[in-house]
Amino acid sequence: MRFGINTLDDMEVQGKTVLCRVDINQPIDQATGTLKDTTRIAACTPTLKELSDKGAKVVLLAHQGSDIEYKNFYTTEPHVQVLSKLLGREVRFIDDVCGPAARAAIQALKPGELLLLDNVRFVAEEQTLFEMKLQLSHAAQAKTLLVRKLAPLGDLYVCDAFAAAHRDQPSLCGFEQILPSAMGRLFEEEFCVISGLMEKPERPCVFVLGGAKISDAFLMMSTVLGGGVADQVLTGGLVGEVLLWADGKDIGEGARGVIRKAGYESLVGTARELLAQYRDRILMPEDFAAVQGGQRVEYPLGKIPGDTLILDIGTETGACYQARIRTAKTVFVNGPMGVFEDAPTEQGTRMVWDALGDTAAYTVIGGGDSITATKKYGKTEDINYICTGGGALIRFLTGEELPVVKALRYGSTLTKKQC
Ligand code: ADP
Ligand code: MG
Repeated sequence: MRFGINTLDDMEVQGKTVLCRVDINQPIDQATGTLKDTTRIAACTPTLKELSDKGAKVVLLAHQGSDIEYKNFYTTEPHVQVLSKLLGREVRFIDDVCGPAARAAIQALKPGELLLLDNVRFVAEEQTLFEMKLQLSHAAQAKTLLVRKLAPLGDLYVCDAFAAAHRDQPSLCGFEQILPSAMGRLFEEEFCVISGLMEKPERPCVFVLGGAKISDAFLMMSTVLGGGVADQVLTGGLVGEVLLWADGKDIGEGARGVIRKAGYESLVGTARELLAQYRDRILMPEDFAAVQGGQRVEYPLGKIPGDTLILDIGTETGACYQARIRTAKTVFVNGPMGVFEDAPTEQGTRMVWDALGDTAAYTVIGGGDSITATKKYGKTEDINYICTGGGALIRFLTGEELPVVKALRYGSTLTKKQC
């Protein structure tokens, strides 16, 4: 048991049917059904291999894409070949989630065999809009179709989906009400790394917060500065711009317009409160870059022409942040410094990632675009920990108890099936 949750060491799985929720959600080319990345699939294979080696009948539950944004909303069938290849053993697939075909396939499993069910989000109660509109209690989630149909066939529930741990949905929080539960090895590892970061980081501990999700960044800042976790927060992207605006600095009408349009003007007040409390520990950019005629142009703060759009931090700020990262002992990064997708405005992000690559500090990265930047700059091997979860990691760092953690703590107290 760790963090009040059972681990795989606490479970006797031989001959048992284990319902295992994984997060293998990946970008997908729908025209060909090809997965464009397989990082998350690889990350959960240790748990699956261990369960199968120990003689469990393993039933995999997973989602692919979201019903809000249909781009990646797809069957989980393409994942099964990748899983089989990575595990070196056959994983079967059934194009059903909890209907008669899925149930028959589960009942036919033999010890050591693995079966992947279809996308759990094909079931209405699992959908994202449903989650946000109804906000079902965990007890109510245990009464949803998915849990009512599958829980009676299972003996144990394992959640290895740390990347989805902020989601309050039946496949993630419902089974723990009925089946004795545990977290998988990936969940345990990610929980451990992030808790270690929050509880006893080696100092100086520097947080680098950029990108576009300003409200998340501000929540994180107040937790890690208020709780004494971060000695310094280096800011870039829209996060840095809103802080400067709050500080009464002239970032130009162009940048203010972008922030207003994104609906973030209301956060200027929050930024002001953060500065009032923690000014000495928050670093803001001192110069910026924009694009004119396809070329990078830099301006010091206060000299940004009226309607110019700020698209990156400038060279001086980049060099200052590099020095802080190189002398830190712990560095956490979420969010790029600028629009790193475009060549003229990638320098700030590249400078920060270069320093992450050669600092002796323990480095942790989270967030989809931050992981993309890590791959783009060839730093995957140099970063100590790349967290598979973006949303979950951010919620964790804001100090909230994640819904799945709460449910797993409850499920860890059960010694026998409740149905
Ligand atoms: P992550 O996915 O790592 O959590 P975010 O999603 O919060 O990061 O932010 C990434 C996005 O923010 C990128 O698409 C990047 O182009 C954009 N971005 C960064 N800086 C700026 C800026 N100054 N103005 C507009 N967009 C920015
Ligand atoms: Mg992003």
